[in-house]
Parts: sequence; C-alpha cells; structure tokens
Amino acid sequence: MKETIIANKTISEWKAEHPLINEIMSLKEVFWCNPQYDGFESAKKKISLSERDVTDAEERLNRFAPFIAKIFPETYRTKGIIESPIIRIPNTQKRIEQLHSQKIGGTLLLKCDSHLPISGSIKARGGICEVLKHAEDMAVKNNMLTYNDDYSVFDSEKFRAFFSQYSVAVGSTGNLGLSIGIMGTQIGFKVFVHMSADAKKWKKDLLRSKGVKVIEYESDYSKAVEEGRKQAQADPNMYFIDDENSTDLFLGYAVAANRLKKQLEESEVIVDEDHPLFAYLPCGVGGAAGGITFGLKSIYKDHVHCFFAEPTHSPCMLLGLMTRQHDRVSVQDFGIDNITEADGLAVGRPSGLVGKSLEKMISGVYTVEDDDLHILLSLLADSENIYAEPSAMAGMPGPVRLFTSSDGQKYLTDNRLISRDMKNATHIVWATGGSMVPPTVMNEYYKKGLKLLNP
Ligand SMILES: *Cc1c(COP(=O)(O)O)cnc(C)c1O
Repeated sequence: MKETIIANKTISEWKAEHPLINEIMSLKEVFWCNPQYDGFESAKKKISLSERDVTDAEERLNRFAPFIAKIFPETYRTKGIIESPIIRIPNTQKRIEQLHSQKIGGTLLLKCDSHLPISGSIKARGGICEVLKHAEDMAVKNNMLTYNDDYSVFDSEKFRAFFSQYSVAVGSTGNLGLSIGIMGTQIGFKVFVHMSADAKKWKKDLLRSKGVKVIEYESDYSKAVEEGRKQAQADPNMYFIDDENSTDLFLGYAVAANRLKKQLEESEVIVDEDHPLFAYLPCGVGGAAGGITFGLKSIYKDHVHCFFAEPTHSPCMLLGLMTRQHDRVSVQDFGIDNITEADGLAVGRPSGLVGKSLEKMISGVYTVEDDDLHILLSLLADSENIYAEPSAMAGMPGPVRLFTSSDGQKYLTDNRLISRDMKNATHIVWATGGSMVPPTVMNEYYKKGLKLLNP
C-alpha cells in the first residue's frame, strides 16, 4: 500500500526525522524544545511587526476606553481598560509540587485572563481590539471621527445606525465568537459567528440572545473559519476577522505584555539576567499565545522564555513547528482526531502567520491530557478559589514538566539557567478563560477533576 504524503514526505519519513512524532501520534504527553529557538536579535528578523505596532494597538484601546467604560460597567473601575490581575498562587504551587513530587524552582504566578471583563477569556484582548480597529477605520474614513475625539460618541444612535449597514463575520470554537459578538453588536454591526462542532451550547445560546447570527458546523474549527471567510468574500459590506492570519488580532494580544510589565513592576517582580521569566501559554491556532510571546520578547528579550501548551489530541502548533511546515500540516494528517474537552484549544491546523514569524522565538511546546486539565481545574479551585475552564489550565503543568523532562533540563542547561538561578525565576501560568462558564457546567468540570484526583 502506498503511504500518504504529508508536505512531500511520508509519515515514516517524518517519524524517522523526528522520533517524537511516534509519541505524539500515540497521544502521549510530550515536552519538546524548539531547536530553531534563537536569541531575540536574530529571532525578530523573521517578523515584520515592531514594538511600534504594539504601541499603536495599545493607544487605540486607550482611545476607546471612555466608550468601553460607558457601555460595560464592569470596566468602570479600570476606566474602560480591559485588564486582569496577576496573582501569586503559593498554595497551588505547593499542591502541584506534592502531586508530582517535584520542587518548582522559582515563584508561580497566575495571569487571570479567565476573569477578563466583557467576555471572560483571553479573546477579550485580540478579538475586541480588531473589532474596534475596524470600527475606527470606518468612522474616520466616513468623516465621522478624528483620532482626538472623545470616543464615547460610538455610544450614539447616529453611530449605531451607520454601523448597522455593515456586518462582521468570524469562525470560532466559541470564545472568539463571544468576544466579537458581544463587542460587535454594541458597536451596531450585524455579527455572524461560524461555530465549530466543539463550541459549547451555552456560548451559542448567549450569542443568539444578543442578536448574533450563529451558524453551526459538524466539523472542526478550520471548516468554520473557511465558511466565514467565504461568506465575507461574497459581501462587500462584510468584514472577516481572520483568526488564522490577522495581524490586528495578534497585536491586540501583544498589548498584554506592555500591561504585564507594569503589573510586574508594581508587584516588585524583577526580570533580568539573574531573574528569568517563564510564560506558559495555552495554544489553539496560536494567535493569543503568539501575540503575547511577541510582546513579552520585545520587552524582556532573552530573559523571557515562552512555552506553548496544547491538548494531546490537538498538537497543531507542535507539529507545525517541528516539521517546519506550519499551516501546511494538520493533526488529522498525522491521524490525530482533534477531539478535546479543551474547546478553546481544539484546533487542527496552526496559524501560518504565527508559526513562521515566531519560529525562533518560541522556546518549546508541550502537550497535556484532558484528564490533567480537569485535575488542575479542581486543584486551583480548592487552593485559591479561582475557577477556570479546562483550556485555561494547559499552562499549569508547564513548570513541573520543564524540571522533569529531559528536553526541559537540556533547555535550562543550554540557556545557562542552572538550578541556583532558578530559585529567582518567575513562572507565569496564563489562565485563559472561565469566568463566563455557567455554574452548572463549571461544577461538572470541577467534580470530574475531583474524581480523577481522588479515585
Ligand atoms: C482561544 C483560546 C486559547 C488559545 O488562543 P489561540 O489564539 O487560538 O491560540 C486559549 N484558551 C482559551 C480559553 C481560548 O478560548
């Protein structure tokens, strides 16, 4: 029988080149360090975006802040800035160390994007940023707005009537749809969300209640994106938010790094040669994890180390980076089903934009089993009273895996991060979603985790 060809090679050839593919295909948890990883000065040559672009995105969000504060009361206290706290989680750190009989060198912090205002997930960064940019571009082009105006004018009959002639479309596994749907309808756009089969019912119901048109598919995320793109191509008044390729989304996520820098300074967390920073970022298509990586690297350069986390059933970025074929390969090509409870990470084909431009900035990728996500969810709930969704827990095993895996040890040695220095390290686990999950659904996750923890 002839073997199928994936990006010019057979699976046997790919396996011979990268033996880890055997384990990935058997759905084992792996920890992989990226051999392409390089110093920041060299790595940044692969990306055409700059720090200036991140600042532009940040300034746009500042211009919109008066409008956001007005229509989303939960942002009143932060004056319309959509931001989440970063907190120390010593109890969780202790419990994870006990669970794995492994000490974590350094301090564990949790970035609580699970509790970002407006849409309760990391998508309240990128998604909202792009909707607002599109609205701003249109208002300026039509002489309704200048950059120095008070953007509260977006909260007016005149503006909503204008935007109601236009629509926005997006393909999503759920959370991106929520953020675009909630913000898009507030601006006045008609919003179409193309949802993959993984999308949870409560997310679709919530969107429909806000007047969003939800179109459902039996297949996965890639199909939903493709259909959304097609719909927008056929309608000149429709704008497509392209989760696979959008630089505006990417930059919206990158703004998180500038804000994080201030938060770390306020908490007296030092990042320098002797105080390395590690970030563990749940990865779906890669936009959020990629944007944050770019932002953090632009600030901390070689003192920050960014690891992506994926479900064992959806290791798309891992395969894309490892084979260096990026969006030319999918997990399905390698016989992996892309079925996971971590709906936010259920993506079979990675973003080509992220993989190619960050090929030398991403330190590594590891995979996590769904059961572990549930265990960590209930462990975090019990030790800190913070409830996050399964996708959001993918970052949590990162520090232990860094210390216990042979590739992780090699990474520390190669980057001269000897254990003496690691006691000064900071590990940021990026919790990416959860606060909008209905209590009954969250309770199911929690109970499942408890059962797995105490069988
Ligand atoms: C979308 C999402 C991610 C990953 O973001 P990508 O841009 O798809 O990589 C992580 N966690 C949650 C909860 C998400 O919704």
